[in-house]
Amino acid sequence: MQFGSKFKIFKNFLSDLIFPKSCFNCGKSGIWFCHECYNRVILNSNIRCPFCKLPGGILGQTCFNCRKTHFLDGVIAATEYKNTVIKKLVHKYKYDLIKDLEKPSGWLIADYIEALKEKSPDFFKDVDFVVPVPLSVKKTLARGFNQSELLSKRLSNHFKWPMAVNSLQKIKSNKRQVNQKKIGRRQNVRDKYALKDKFKFKSKKIFLIDDVATTGSTLDECAKIMKKAGAREVWGIVLSQD
Ligand SMILES: [Zn+2]
Ligand SMILES: [Zn+2]
Repeated sequence: MQFGSKFKIFKNFLSDLIFPKSCFNCGKSGIWFCHECYNRVILNSNIRCPFCKLPGGILGQTCFNCRKTHFLDGVIAATEYKNTVIKKLVHKYKYDLIKDLEKPSGWLIADYIEALKEKSPDFFKDVDFVVPVPLSVKKTLARGFNQSELLSKRLSNHFKWPMAVNSLQKIKSNKRQVNQKKIGRRQNVRDKYALKDKFKFKSKKIFLIDDVATTGSTLDECAKIMKKAGAREVWGIVLSQD
């Protein structure tokens, strides 16, 4: 056994002593998300436009009307945020910073996409990049990880889609979005993102990865920058949608 892996086991042993693992939903010890609770999550069947929330389509396309004022082609959401298990999962992962929840969160998205692939195999054939929605450097350092980047890595490995990290960057931090009105949110994210390489996404089909989509304004702002740089298609892929 190499020193690195020994050290890792020791580190896990220590962190288990200090923060004993238990399922965030039922309290079962030894695991952050037990199999029973995982299997209780219902994958999304309420497919709708990410902006006006009107139902339709099979993937979550932006509807004809919303296309006039938005850049994002659609949002594929593995689950619905109103599901109580998912709501708790997102909070534990995003706000309580339990990094290990990245794995089951990624599996849920992968399971969902696998099911969609059976219905629309061609749609998933020509994906050029998965791109995580970036956090500011300050926030990444404070959290220790970017949850969207971990999800992107998992999807990139699972589906063999190339991942582009650091191409899209957050240049200004926004004020906390919770409790803000919808219009306020759109203004809040405006001009907060930039592309490092303006030619990387030209004519490409991109999947932007995030944990939750509420109004869709962050994803749309990122899509705007990519479309202006010539991207062919930009879709959001999220664990859950509000
Ligand atoms: Zn459980
Ligand atoms: Zn719409």
